Amino acid sequence: MTSVTLAPSRVAAIRRALLGWYEAHGEAFPWRHARSPYWALVAGVCSQQTQMSRVLPLWQRWVEAFPDIEALARADTATVLRVWERAGYPRRALALREAARICVALHGGALPRDPQALLALPGVGPFTTAIVQCFGFEDSASAVDTNVIRVLGRLVYGDVQPAAETPHADIDATAARLLPHGNAGPWNATLMEYGAKVCTPRPHCQACVVHRLCAARPRFEAGAVAAPIRAQGRFAGSDRQWRGRIMRALRDADGPLRTPAFVRALASDEAERATVRRLLAALCAEGFAWSRSGRCGLGDPPSAIISCDA
Ligand code: SF4
Repeated sequence: MTSVTLAPSRVAAIRRALLGWYEAHGEAFPWRHARSPYWALVAGVCSQQTQMSRVLPLWQRWVEAFPDIEALARADTATVLRVWERAGYPRRALALREAARICVALHGGALPRDPQALLALPGVGPFTTAIVQCFGFEDSASAVDTNVIRVLGRLVYGDVQPAAETPHADIDATAARLLPHGNAGPWNATLMEYGAKVCTPRPHCQACVVHRLCAARPRFEAGAVAAPIRAQGRFAGSDRQWRGRIMRALRDADGPLRTPAFVRALASDEAERATVRRLLAALCAEGFAWSRSGRCGLGDPPSAIISCDA
């Protein structure tokens, strides 16, 4: 591990400057002030691989539809997927419902406070665990996402693209060193938001409240540019695009669809029809859809179709 000593005076200056910025510019997201572990869990899962601007509408839709863990645990697959809508990576929606079912079965319908028990829930990793700890229970924990990695890797280690350059263990150690005990929620929110708004991939160093304390600023001022972490693969015509189209068509349907007509409506030639059939089968295997007896639909098959197959 690279050793960077953060003197107490530097720690205090960084905290003061960034918390001051958050006071003036921070978003008042509902889960940040409610001390609700469930709201925090939903926020943590919604935030994974999602731009900050898209998290709030998704979160609001979700807690309106499923106001508590028991309501979510009772929800059927089609409803869960319709509420998730086009937020992407719908596995997260099913994992969230599965986590709620485990909480009902094992934890009395509440989220456990123990971080190891939180980590054992499906779809819950270290980041979401920390979000539940700091916002839901007001416990001390560092929530480290890509935005936080970027801010800390630049500020403390002078790396231009920390996700590729700074060892994760160094980021974790720095996050723990900077965490103000008793104020973990606002501090985590500060770092996440600072990375989303100021220390962005192309950082706004001129407007930065910690530029005098930042090890990377001279590199950016000398013209350094952070290379993209990974090039986005082609989207048009990709399986990802086809899966999105199939899921949208299934979500929009009122009830079971005739599979051959459904495939024909989406595809314009035999190659595309083969793609739709292949991906529909994959979506069924993953629990997002069903296809039986020449019919298909979103979520689980209706009981009439199951009994007709039996
Ligand atoms: S000076 Fe620039 S690189 Fe450093 S923390 Fe601020 S915005 Fe990020």
